[in-house]
Amino acid sequence: MTQALTERTTRELRDRTEMLLRGLGAVPPEPGSLPARTPITGGELASLPPSSIIDVDLAIGAADRAFREWRSVPAPQRAALVRRLAALLTEHQDELAELVTLEAGKITAEARGEVQEMIDICEFAIGLSRQLYGRTMPSERPGHRLMETWHPLGVVGVISAFNFPVAVWAWNTALALVCGDTVVWKPSETTPLTALACHTLLRRAAMEVGADPEVHQLIQGAAEVGTRLVDDPRVALVSATGSVRMGRTVAPRVAARFGRCLLELGGNNAAIVTPSADLDLAARAIVFAAAGTAGQRCTTMRRLIVHTSVVGPLLDRVAAAYRQLRVGNPLDEGVLVGPLINSQGYLGMQSALRRALEDGGELVCGGERVEGFGEDAFYVRPALVRMPAQTAVVREETFAPILYAMTYNDLDAAIELHNGVPQGLSSSLFTQDQREAERFLAADGSDCGIANINIGTSGAEIGGAFGGEKETGGGRESGSDSWKAYMRRATNTVNYSTELPLAQGIRFE
Ligand code: NAD
Repeated sequence: MTQALTERTTRELRDRTEMLLRGLGAVPPEPGSLPARTPITGGELASLPPSSIIDVDLAIGAADRAFREWRSVPAPQRAALVRRLAALLTEHQDELAELVTLEAGKITAEARGEVQEMIDICEFAIGLSRQLYGRTMPSERPGHRLMETWHPLGVVGVISAFNFPVAVWAWNTALALVCGDTVVWKPSETTPLTALACHTLLRRAAMEVGADPEVHQLIQGAAEVGTRLVDDPRVALVSATGSVRMGRTVAPRVAARFGRCLLELGGNNAAIVTPSADLDLAARAIVFAAAGTAGQRCTTMRRLIVHTSVVGPLLDRVAAAYRQLRVGNPLDEGVLVGPLINSQGYLGMQSALRRALEDGGELVCGGERVEGFGEDAFYVRPALVRMPAQTAVVREETFAPILYAMTYNDLDAAIELHNGVPQGLSSSLFTQDQREAERFLAADGSDCGIANINIGTSGAEIGGAFGGEKETGGGRESGSDSWKAYMRRATNTVNYSTELPLAQGIRFE
């Protein structure tokens, strides 16, 4: 693409963005110092003013005031807001998905899937609003009842990453709202427009069902805006999704004020492929998990640990599929791999590849830049690299499509290699041997928050709890009982007798 053509394409994408924003009910922002770029051409779609210190303070104050009323609205009534949001998301699914494609570079199918995930979590949250169960336990004292009650927590600060610009917000917000919390959202500075669209839809839903629109606040900007949210004692829970580097700063700051943190940080996900695996199925799963979203998912498969007896046929299959992947404009039908988010992503990938080759790695295929989209757009062919060992670069998360393949002879050694990285998000084992499968899922198997058999590491459903261990941060979001992170638990003991027996049989007379 010539420079003139790139500029024309950017102009067209800019016009399209404005149309989409208007269609979603959002007023295109006043220009400011925060640029919203499209990775499709690297050009600017819009710019907006970042939130000032005063804006952040006002937003947290408004959310705090709104919380005082919202916490007393019965949970099934709070769900009406989430139900309306789900309806609006369904109505606007294609427009919002297109905006995700324009701003984050996801291919259309994945962007649509991301909005579907938002609708799914809203449905989950609506049902949950009638199931915020506390337990009743047998009291050791006669004439006493012992139980626990779950109460709303307060203001939830949501900090999100660029690569799931809308779904992660929805995971947090749908649950927080039915739990009776209010939300202040600081999206990635890379994706401010999708955030604006979601905020507008939620505010509209609130007004349509008669809920207080102030239950949701949006602040925009980079790390320093997030820091203000992190440090504010009015924010009861900071739910932060992003890199381990970000988590290392955020967690101690929140801890210093005894706030709560829910961390969803980087992953370095692997699959083990055993001799009995269905290699065709494994190869399909591996290609989606490793190359999908251009390797920019927290759950992207980055390491492959293959039994020496099947490494040849498996890598042949994966490499053949890699060579056929269409890399290009994510808006075009048939394209499976869109652009990297920016030059940083590209440079990070090239540097990791260089280090891998220095460590004795052998490039099987891919890794090169795909030209023709302008100098500010970064498209790459997913790389497959055979590694002689799990060296330092393999143990790091490089947020780009590089799959490092290693071999093993003994399953115990494979599991040790698998767990021998600082991150602990998602994992897979491909096998048709039940003993191997159970071994992987056992206490001394995978040490990750997500452990799968015969499916890839990415593409989780909302029904399960999502998150990981070690440097991934230990947080759980989305399904199962993740809602408990958004509430506080009170243990209640009621004495309905005329006596005052003490616990543990203590006599104090
Ligand atoms: P990032 O860490 O650069 O930014 C994430 C968010 O944190 C942004 O909103 C950013 O402005 C904010 N931020 C950064 N430093 C901060 C600070 N000191 N204080 C407050 N806020 C701060 O991450 P990214 O490049 O946007 O996203 C990619 C990373 O996110 C990868 O490491 C990926 O694995 C991870 N991720 C994890 C999950 C998960 O669920 N575990 C999901 C998506 C992405």
